[in-house]
Amino acid sequence: ERIMDIEAQNQEEAFEFSLRPQNLNQYIGQDKVKENLRVFIDAAKMREEALDHVLLYGPPGLGKTTLAAIIANEMGVALRTTSGPAIERPGDLAAILSALQPGEVLFIDEIHRLPKSVEEVLYPAMEDFCLDIVIGKGPGARSVRIDLPPFTLVGATTRAGSVSAPLRDRFGVVSRLEYYTEIQLREIVKRTSQVLDTEIDEHAASEIARRSRGTPRIANRLLRRVRDFAQVRGNGNIVFELADYALELMQVDKVGLDQIDRKLLLGIIEKFKGGPVGLDTIAATIGEESGTIEDVYEPYLMQIGFMQRTPRGRIVTDHVYRHFNIEVPNP
Ligand code: ADP
Repeated sequence: ERIMDIEAQNQEEAFEFSLRPQNLNQYIGQDKVKENLRVFIDAAKMREEALDHVLLYGPPGLGKTTLAAIIANEMGVALRTTSGPAIERPGDLAAILSALQPGEVLFIDEIHRLPKSVEEVLYPAMEDFCLDIVIGKGPGARSVRIDLPPFTLVGATTRAGSVSAPLRDRFGVVSRLEYYTEIQLREIVKRTSQVLDTEIDEHAASEIARRSRGTPRIANRLLRRVRDFAQVRGNGNIVFELADYALELMQVDKVGLDQIDRKLLLGIIEKFKGGPVGLDTIAATIGEESGTIEDVYEPYLMQIGFMQRTPRGRIVTDHVYRHFNIEVPNP
């Protein structure tokens, strides 16, 4: 089963990779972020310098990795990719940094998970393009300084609050990615259909967009599965009725909530009278990690006004009762 999972995951990654827009013009939405980057990229190119370091934050699947690849592409340099938890020791980071070519982009995903000792080596590397390495132990230990080629660090995180202040301060550009509008997601769905060589009608594209939790990764994933239905049950073209039917079977509801969203919201209503209830308590009740609820589920439910954070814990709003056809309790 484990091997199947890995296989499925690799396929999913290959699929995502094939759909990545290559340049800023193909990247849909996030207009403010794009506008900013466009100016910084053009300026850096004019000065023939490496682009300033960029920190991207926001929920998973909104296009942080994609943007890092686009930045490298627009700068005309290679992208090197790693992640916070993968860099265990300062020496690991030193090896990565000293292998960079001038101007290259280093992408560190989940940068909030870098060990403290590694972070400290990163500061002078970001600021002065050098590494201070301690050689030897005890009284004979000494510090040597190694110069690095200029490079651009692109960091990504789902939790801006977990990035330490000294690290955050060393990024020249800090951008927050927002959930996409239905119209933007519809464009993404149509673009992906084109890449997949599949016909889709406007109404079907809108429906998939509406049910994608504001997230391109989800839109593409739903589209791919709807396309499977279209090939097996239809003539390969995606029409509204087919999309709607497939999404119902996948248990993605009219506003895009999935089984875990429902378990979460209904759990708060049924077990805690709508809240307030603490995050860890909810997590234990529904058997999900509190970090996943906080990073993945909650942000969207708050965005659509289904959930709120109060000093005493999470509460669900009246919208949720109406959505599930449950009588709204009297205050
Ligand atoms: P993150 O790194 O934030 O988790 P990714 O960059 O991996 O998200 O994006 C997930 C998928 O969504 C990618 O495969 C990409 O095809 C698609 N995607 C993300 N943002 C956009 C966008 N602005 N326009 C078109 N496709 C996008």
